[in-house]
Amino acid sequence: MSISDVTAGFAELIKDNPTVASEILGDIDPITWMSARANLRTEKLEPLEFKDHLPMVDVYRDWHPLIVAQKGSQIGMTTCQICKLLYYCDTHNITAIYTMPTAKDVFEFSQARFAPVIKASNYLSARMGNVDNATLKRMGASTLYFRGAQKHSQAISVPADIIVNDEYDFSAQDVMDTFEKRVGASKLKWFWRFSTPSIPDFGINALYKDTDQRHWLVRCTSCGKWQDVTFEHNLLKRKGGTPYFGCRRCSVKLNRRNGAWVAKHPQKATDAVYDDQGRLVAPADGMRGYWINPLTFTYVTATSVWAEWRKVERKNTNFARKRFHNFDLGLPYLTGEGLITRDTILRTMQASIPDTGFNVIGVDQGDYSTGLYEESFPPAEWPWLLSVLPTTSTKLIASLVCTVCGRELLTPSPTSTTREI
Ligand SMILES: [Zn+2]
Repeated sequence: MSISDVTAGFAELIKDNPTVASEILGDIDPITWMSARANLRTEKLEPLEFKDHLPMVDVYRDWHPLIVAQKGSQIGMTTCQICKLLYYCDTHNITAIYTMPTAKDVFEFSQARFAPVIKASNYLSARMGNVDNATLKRMGASTLYFRGAQKHSQAISVPADIIVNDEYDFSAQDVMDTFEKRVGASKLKWFWRFSTPSIPDFGINALYKDTDQRHWLVRCTSCGKWQDVTFEHNLLKRKGGTPYFGCRRCSVKLNRRNGAWVAKHPQKATDAVYDDQGRLVAPADGMRGYWINPLTFTYVTATSVWAEWRKVERKNTNFARKRFHNFDLGLPYLTGEGLITRDTILRTMQASIPDTGFNVIGVDQGDYSTGLYEESFPPAEWPWLLSVLPTTSTKLIASLVCTVCGRELLTPSPTSTTREI
């Protein structure tokens, strides 16, 4: 029987007996499974809805092994990943690890968000095994670990099939690497990584640039132009009028549901290909990437975005501008005129250190401080290249770590000399 025969037969079944059809579909389609079988709710115990979250439908149904999502805040990405994992744990026999930046994040998530979702579903409650604590869940034949990604000791040594990294940019990057080694023996080897971005070319943004870079493009119903919805080009406001999302070419109000995911580099990721008999012809390849732009979600109004931006203008700080770009727009942001990226730093590095004069040691950008070290450093016995780690301290600039041995070479003291670049 060919795929087209199966599809035609199923269409008949949906018409004649929708209940049986949704039972069958619940085995193969995550959204049907969540709504018709598991009766999944959001952590606020509301039904999952896609009317105002339309771009998420394809993310829910995407089973590419390597998915990267650069996202704004509050768009339902954690709910999406948890639902997909629960569906897969229910219908397969797998081990999955879900990471968050810290163990505290994991505990709070498990208690405040995960547990109520399970409790609200009779189906899931019945499927959960007797091991059920904050960091370990059993569901059917599958096991789901929740872990913080702050220390290497949290990167448990069990082999895993699927690893999901939540808030990748705010997790210790070297611990992420350790987690990745956990899938070596698995047939699946799936990594789904997502995060609010921080700065360009770091973390999720660096990963995203290596993907097929999908954007939710919207088509103007008036002039037909396909376009990204951006703060810069689409948040329009006529004198005395209220703000609205309009076409960047003809200014007519956009219907943001009239859109589709379009890959900027479609050749960089392919889905698995099967023949008519369901046999694998070619495995999935490359990395799938989504820029999950909050402005494409219809629950986000132009008025609310405009009000947020007015707050940023009133505060007039780099920190406020950065937060607005990262969280409200889902974009990386670097403050200042001289953009300092990883590449900039790498270009300034050299193998030998001059005996005299100033050595630029490290910089930290953005939220807390920007500065240069003006010391003759490192001493002659450390003539290696140095890497820079960001700091969250208001006093320190950056700690410096030897790229050869991993040892921390310098924790700058608050009295160290700094100056604005
Ligand atoms: Zn138009």
